[in-house]
Amino acid sequence: MNVLLLGSGGREHALAWKLAQSPSLGKLFAAPGNPGIADHARLVVLDPADHAAVTAFARAESIGLVVVGPEAPLVDGLADSLRAAGVPVFGPSAAAARLEGSKAFTKEIAVANGIPTADAVYATSPDTAAAALDRFGVPVVVKADGLAAGKGVVVAATRAEADAAVAALFADGTGAALIEQCLVGEEASLFALSDGSTVIPFGTAQDHKRVGDGDTGPNTGGMGAYSPAPVLTPELELRAMREIVEPTVRALADAGTPFVGVLYAGLMLTAEGPKLIEYNVRFGDPEAQVLMPRVAGDLVAILHACATGGLAALPTPRFSDETALGVVIAADGYPGTPRTGGTVGGLEAAAATGATVFHAGTRSLEDRVVASGGRVLCVVATGADARTARDRAYQAVDMIDFPDGFCRRDIGWRAIQR
Ligand code: ATP
Repeated sequence: MNVLLLGSGGREHALAWKLAQSPSLGKLFAAPGNPGIADHARLVVLDPADHAAVTAFARAESIGLVVVGPEAPLVDGLADSLRAAGVPVFGPSAAAARLEGSKAFTKEIAVANGIPTADAVYATSPDTAAAALDRFGVPVVVKADGLAAGKGVVVAATRAEADAAVAALFADGTGAALIEQCLVGEEASLFALSDGSTVIPFGTAQDHKRVGDGDTGPNTGGMGAYSPAPVLTPELELRAMREIVEPTVRALADAGTPFVGVLYAGLMLTAEGPKLIEYNVRFGDPEAQVLMPRVAGDLVAILHACATGGLAALPTPRFSDETALGVVIAADGYPGTPRTGGTVGGLEAAAATGATVFHAGTRSLEDRVVASGGRVLCVVATGADARTARDRAYQAVDMIDFPDGFCRRDIGWRAIQR
């Protein structure tokens, strides 16, 4: 089967790497891809916002499956356009993608279906926001609605911080704020695949959002991750599937907007059990980079089954028992303005250690690879436990020659401590 993969980051490199191992793969195309993805796929120029062009390409190349990496094209309805043209696509419709695109929508689904989550008030005026802040006390969480790339959330320790966050939201014309009770616990991610009616668990992970060692400094897209998440025991995973993920998939199916693709649940493991923080409607980045090396089966067949309503008939996908751990190497300046253009060397030496180096923000320049984004590489290794995986990952990281970059040195500390 011919497959078209959309996206250009480390997540898509990990997907391409795994798709390329599938016995059922014919030709793999990627748009726009990156130099790492180019090792596995033919790169093509296609604008995901141009639905007609993507559909025409899919028809011309007899694409049997389109895999959409990032969320923006999904929220924008690309999956709807492809499905309308009869092209199987792994990724939700715009209506179902609201689970990521609108925090208020997700909150409504949770409340209507008894899904454990933080109490919240959707405030459309500064006065209702202030009343909600009075009610919840501090700490409290203030969120913008809509896609904010992780930057729309303030966990306020004081009322002054909370007031400032609310004022900023109403000042920039957003005109709405989600005020939430602050949940206490450890965060973990649960992935689930759905074909619209059947839903199955598809691995767990934990990431490190902060830029600095010891989980300090500003938030980033993610500086490293590991899978599985030891804190999410099989019992807790089952409970989260039953209480959170399954009712969500049922609710969307009942509403006539079935969810097709990967549902990535951000969970807080509280004293009362797992609670939903947020949904994403695509694989995480860098979580995909540590999930894919553990997938034992044929990824093309698995994702195609999701896209075509065939998940119930598919043998349960298996994962290796090993831990996979990934360290992100970022360009200096990230998560602010990164210094791009620096030469990235040592890629072969790093891979020779047995690790896998996924490209995130790189491009080819003559015969060199240079940094082209904030997060440049994700170096992933596997091992019998988190400590072994971590030691192997850093051994490979130390072979990378990228003077303009940095990485955290403590990825996996929670899992290792456990
Ligand atoms: P991203 O998708 O980048 O993680 P986002 O903008 O979609 O971010 P959320 O995931 O809702 O926002 O929140 C970001 C982070 O804020 C969470 O990972 C969590 O650490 C914290 N957070 C959000 N809601 C709560 C809550 N109710 N209680 C405690 N912490 C929270």
